[in-house]
Amino acid sequence: MPKHIASGLKYLAAVKLKDMGKTHQEIARELSVDRSTISHYLNGSNLSWNSIDVARTITELSPRDFLIMAQAIFDKPEQSRKIVKICQERNFVVNIEDSCIGCGLCVNACSMKAILLESLKAHADSIQCCGCQLCKDECPTNSIKILEI
Ligand code: SF4
Ligand code: SF4
Repeated sequence: MPKHIASGLKYLAAVKLKDMGKTHQEIARELSVDRSTISHYLNGSNLSWNSIDVARTITELSPRDFLIMAQAIFDKPEQSRKIVKICQERNFVVNIEDSCIGCGLCVNACSMKAILLESLKAHADSIQCCGCQLCKDECPTNSIKILEI
């Protein structure tokens, strides 16, 4: 079943990338599948519509639950990261306040690789953030604010 749901999520991502003007070849590269599979996806063939419904429901979960489900469905972290990034409809801004002590716990907590430690301070790339708030939960100084925009 997870394999079918993975296909459903890839289908949703492929449709979104196509709407963004990407070619079949670019979509295939982005999703690490071959070009003929993308053509099948976009023609609606070789797909279970139930799996697409389940996949759509997963994308509509809270950002944290969507990320956790994607991590459970895909073997490779970069795949779950990519699917969440493409299919997530919501946008977030990460603010790190001066009270940051540079402990790095947020860096380890962030599966989206949106936080880096530089000069003993955390720095966030909001573009990569999916809004899961896992970093915020780990921060011992309550220095992280996640805002939906
Ligand atoms: S909320 Fe925090 S842990 Fe989650 S993706 Fe954004 S920066 Fe990373
Ligand atoms: S967890 Fe908090 S204190 Fe530690 S590096 Fe991240 S923002 Fe700074």
